[in-house]
Amino acid sequence: MFLKYHSSNNNSNALMLLLLVILTSLVACSKSTTGKATAAKTKGYRLLSVEEASAYVIKDEKELFFAKVAPLEMAIQMQQETVSLTREEQLSSYQKMLQKDLMSFDAQEQEIVQKIMDKALKMCFSIDPKLQIPEIVLIKTKGAYYGPSVFYTRDNAIVIPAPMIPQNKDAENTAFLRTMLHEIFHVFSRYNKLKRTALYQRIGFEQLPSLALSDFLKKRVLYNPDGVDLRYAITVKDSSGRSFKAIPAIYSRYKSFKKEVPAFFSYLTFQLFEVGDRAGLWSVKNKTVGYSVEDLSGFWEQIEKNTNYIIHPDEICADNFVILAFSKLKNGKNLDKLSENGRALVRDFERIIVGQ
Ligand SMILES: [Zn+2]
Repeated sequence: MFLKYHSSNNNSNALMLLLLVILTSLVACSKSTTGKATAAKTKGYRLLSVEEASAYVIKDEKELFFAKVAPLEMAIQMQQETVSLTREEQLSSYQKMLQKDLMSFDAQEQEIVQKIMDKALKMCFSIDPKLQIPEIVLIKTKGAYYGPSVFYTRDNAIVIPAPMIPQNKDAENTAFLRTMLHEIFHVFSRYNKLKRTALYQRIGFEQLPSLALSDFLKKRVLYNPDGVDLRYAITVKDSSGRSFKAIPAIYSRYKSFKKEVPAFFSYLTFQLFEVGDRAGLWSVKNKTVGYSVEDLSGFWEQIEKNTNYIIHPDEICADNFVILAFSKLKNGKNLDKLSENGRALVRDFERIIVGQ
């Protein structure tokens, strides 16, 4: 899920209007069919028909979204006030809804998307010609459940909402290019776990060996398909100077779907939750809501301020990857507007990604 915060205002309507949401979850091809050899022999990606996409959109072998997604989240996406099904039944009807939202790319869209994907992958390989990216599959969807501007990824697939596909093939379409680079990073990160770990560490996040959510979060959690694993903790301080570990998470501000609030992103709240361990078993300490970022210190100092899109370490990394890719295209000129520490972060990202 990709979502840009432009405001620290907690008012739900105001905040939601300011959110540009792009959900991205990497889609892993099935292990049997994915491979570097495949990617090398092709353009590195392909656009799927509705029939092909039907299999991809309901499968998540890498991050296990479907095993985790909570009944409340499915009800919000399906706009159901009451649910009388078992989780299994609800999941099955949720997956059918995902399939019903699929569309096919028309000829002009194919041309435009291919042009941008060619450019995006060329930029990725300008960072490192040996970058390991599986073949990416592209899926078009109406955008009913997350919203019309939300991109996301599952395994090695990028799901593109129809209204966001550019219509002018001669335009630069830079916003779409940036988004595709961001999404490609989620796929790269998913298939390069050691580099993912090193990138996350560079911005202060360490993976906990286990994590039990609070009862509140178990019900309310919303899983970003691009950052399903919530076990990444960062050390922060509260206003009294107490230091502790916390995980970023998004959750629903309401305990059920409300007809008068139809948009998924109107439910979304981002906070940090304190975690602690007993005999090596980690759990969320906040009984209900967590901490807003502005009430804590030490967070921005570690992640730097190259992006405001901070709901999961993979999102922070994805936006920094876009900056790195553009620095290759623009001879580093786009780095001038960053702070010195921000530039150092991008340089370190390059070193980690290239593997030096
Ligand atoms: Zn993203």
